[in-house]
Amino acid sequence: MSLWSNIHTYNGEYFYNLGKEAFSMMEELFPICRSLTGNGNRQTLEYISNIIPISLYQIDSGTNVFDWNIPSEWNLKSAKIIAPDNKIVCSSNDTNISVVGYSEPIDEYIDLEALKKNIHTIPDMPDTVPYVTSYYKRRWGFCMTQNMLNSLKDGMYRVIIDSELSPGKMDYADLIIKGATSNEILLSTYFCHPSLANDNLSGLILSAIVMREMLNFSDELKISYRAVFVPETIGAIAYLHENKDVIKNNVIAGIVATCVGDNMDTVTYKRSRIGNSVVDRAAEHLLKTSIENHKIIEFSPIGSDERQYCSPGFNLPVGSLMRTHYYDLPCYHTSDDNMSTISPENMGKMIHLYMRLFNLIENNYKWIRSDGGMCEIQLSKRNLYPSIGIQPHNRSAAKHVNWAMNMADGEHDLLEIANISGLPAWELLDIMIKLEEAGVIKKCHEE
Ligand code: ZN
Repeated sequence: MSLWSNIHTYNGEYFYNLGKEAFSMMEELFPICRSLTGNGNRQTLEYISNIIPISLYQIDSGTNVFDWNIPSEWNLKSAKIIAPDNKIVCSSNDTNISVVGYSEPIDEYIDLEALKKNIHTIPDMPDTVPYVTSYYKRRWGFCMTQNMLNSLKDGMYRVIIDSELSPGKMDYADLIIKGATSNEILLSTYFCHPSLANDNLSGLILSAIVMREMLNFSDELKISYRAVFVPETIGAIAYLHENKDVIKNNVIAGIVATCVGDNMDTVTYKRSRIGNSVVDRAAEHLLKTSIENHKIIEFSPIGSDERQYCSPGFNLPVGSLMRTHYYDLPCYHTSDDNMSTISPENMGKMIHLYMRLFNLIENNYKWIRSDGGMCEIQLSKRNLYPSIGIQPHNRSAAKHVNWAMNMADGEHDLLEIANISGLPAWELLDIMIKLEEAGVIKKCHEE
């Protein structure tokens, strides 16, 4: 039995090891300064290209994509604030989120009052540095802890941001794995955040590892897979602009991979705008059946790149599968979102969950009785049913067969049968495959 055909019950140790591998990859990528554009993004995609054979793309600054315009390229060399006593009180060497993303260059002496106007803190979390960007309005700024700000004394400060903000390129990438049909599952993730771990190195690395695993059994895949690696928002908009027809025609399900690594125990699914598409139904079934602490939330146009995939002109069946919802994480968009929030074990579990979700979507067939379906057929003479009468030990097997045979009516798909019967879809699928092999049911034509 291959990993793919056996994915729902496959050895957990295997995925635990993938989680540990994911963690060490994230540690390597953590220090890189990423943004919408720039050398850190290229370095990050180069790292991903050593894991999976992605195709790399560049789009020029100034290019129009729908209502948007690709911004200038930003590269940060270093940034610091030097206090009147010559001490460095804030430095991009400590964490690259200490500079407001897309800060324009500056080297000036200013007094404390003027400096404070360009400093961001979180007053309620006095030891934590916020993550702040200003992509579309030119400004400069620093982020520091409230305690550090409180400690600054009057006087003249030298602020140095050695950055470059000029026309260049925006980088993104994708990988397509061809399956038996051109129908596609979209796996979209973003890599524009600098040194933040859960949001979204976790989603980036999970996507790369899931795709690497899927490549190992690509000849078994019934549908095709498209992984998209973009800077959030503008990258997804650019990608949709460049690929709108193929995406509209082929994507039958999709997931935005974000915040998949935290060390708490909740798993959250955010529905697509459609709400009851196959990805919504498969995710709901999977979470209700196998995750004790799960949360299923409705679509909203607030969040990540599902905002673009689920815009009215696309309205794609794209949801988002994460651990704790980002807005419920106190570390969200702060220096507390570092590698200490990441659980290798949970990363492994999420890699497994993503693959299980895709497997369920692939196998969500309808079946029909080969003989027309009048009355039950005699299963025991075909060795498909206990011949000795139903006892407690074989009641469960009988239940699966009875539901499978009764719902092989050409109307109900696997997920519906699972929900009506209260049986896990993957257990029913095993029975369906056996019944199919015995010739008593057959798959309906795929829609
Ligand atoms: Zn974010």
